[in-house]
Amino acid sequence: MSGFEVVQVRYGERVTRKSAVLHEYSSYGEPDGDLQMDYNFWVLRGASKTMLLDTGYDIAERDWLGEQPVIPTADALALLGIDPLEVSTVVTSHFHYDHIGHLGLFRNAEVVAGAAEYDYWFGKWDRGELAGEFATAGHLEAVRLAEQEGRLRLVREETEVCPGVTVHPVGGHSPGELLTVVEARSGPLILAADAAHFYEQIEHEWPFFAFTDLGEMRRALSLINRLAAETGATVIPGHDGRVREKFPAVAGRAAEIATVLG
Ligand SMILES: [Zn+2]
Repeated sequence: MSGFEVVQVRYGERVTRKSAVLHEYSSYGEPDGDLQMDYNFWVLRGASKTMLLDTGYDIAERDWLGEQPVIPTADALALLGIDPLEVSTVVTSHFHYDHIGHLGLFRNAEVVAGAAEYDYWFGKWDRGELAGEFATAGHLEAVRLAEQEGRLRLVREETEVCPGVTVHPVGGHSPGELLTVVEARSGPLILAADAAHFYEQIEHEWPFFAFTDLGEMRRALSLINRLAAETGATVIPGHDGRVREKFPAVAGRAAEIATVLG
């Protein structure tokens, strides 16, 4: 069997409203409604390596936006039979709190990040501008440790991280946001992370309310649709609870938290 097994792990959740998270939602003339917002990270298992896209965060320590914990990252990995020390690569979609918490668990992993993300957040840290931001010094310390140990790989352009996994720096939501394309067992998957939080954003190319560059965010949404059209890839929005309705749960003890995407 070729291609990666791709599993989405739901470590937290909350319910929000379309009008609360979609940029200028009222201008579309559409009814408001609830959105089930899942907080996820993704496991990519190949023949000889286990990779992660993002690493979750500790909701029990702090719920930034009313997130409800589902399972801590380490417990989820244990249920899936994954030793964090054996994870070879962690791709960070961006450095927001809900995507790079627990990064320090992966002491042996190469950490892949957007160069623009690194510059943006370490610039803020150096200038003492992290108060009230979407990342803390604690989060960034794990990135710095990877850098000091020679495990940090910054990407500036479309980059093949390894055969079957390509990242595209798109910015928009955060300056170095990465889109990840994986050759999964079932075919190509676009793991959008926060380049597209919800299916509506992909369908209509509607921006999310939180962005650093609105034009980049719009271009990222159209890139997602262009790549999907060109390659036949399936697009997985990063925070949409409806992903769990479209794909099967994993077999076994992790069924409650883990969904097989490909
Ligand atoms: Zn997020």
